[in-house]
Amino acid sequence: MSNQPIGILGGTFDPIHYGHLRLAEEMLELANLRQIRFIPTGMPPHRDAPQVSAQHRSAMVRLAIADQPAFVLDEREVRQATPCYTVDTLRELRAELGAVQPLCLLMGGDAFLQLHTWHEWEQLFGLAHIVVGYRPGFTIEERIHSAPEKLRQHYQQRLCSVDDLSQQPSGGVVELVIPKLEISATLIRSRVAQNRTIRYLLPNAVANYIHQHHLYIPC
Ligand code: ATP
Repeated sequence: MSNQPIGILGGTFDPIHYGHLRLAEEMLELANLRQIRFIPTGMPPHRDAPQVSAQHRSAMVRLAIADQPAFVLDEREVRQATPCYTVDTLRELRAELGAVQPLCLLMGGDAFLQLHTWHEWEQLFGLAHIVVGYRPGFTIEERIHSAPEKLRQHYQQRLCSVDDLSQQPSGGVVELVIPKLEISATLIRSRVAQNRTIRYLLPNAVANYIHQHHLYIPC
């Protein structure tokens, strides 16, 4: 059991919502993970700057995961002033957790099909497994054909089962069917901006935090 993998879920979490939490909870169970580290990005290299500060986004993650002991907030990226690449974060985690601890980078199918655009993306496989969640009836196998050949090759050669994740520290790709909730941070931000209810889209504690701190209200 000591080789149970640790999951890593990065995101802007601007704000965290039940889509993220259900994805993590399903992956925890289906991939038999020991723990999931939620790592909010400081300055994401791939997208626009988040609407609220890293401190607020981290605080909301802390509130959202407070009652799930297997979920842990990891603030390493928000402490950094420069853009963070996943590959560097994984290198740090690998150095801290040792060479044999299985690590699983968790992501959705859309993110996996864009993996070739990530900084030093092929190095990721030497550092962690990749666990991809996709919607029922929306397989990666069908869509991988339009991906660049290199990504297709990695996918085909590395595809493995959940049981394999604890046997190696890194290098496998596992697909899990996970129903996707139709919730996004974009939806929540836009509802707050329009003074509409966000109840039941995210934990109450996070909704209260947003209201108390007047987040996502246009100036
Ligand atoms: P935004 O709407 O601002 O783009 P987001 O809601 O997609 O944000 P991110 O913080 O960018 O949230 O996402 C972090 C991770 O969570 C990504 O891997 C993303 O695929 C996944 N994710 C986001 N929303 C959902 C959802 N509803 N169901 C499953 N996974 C999700």
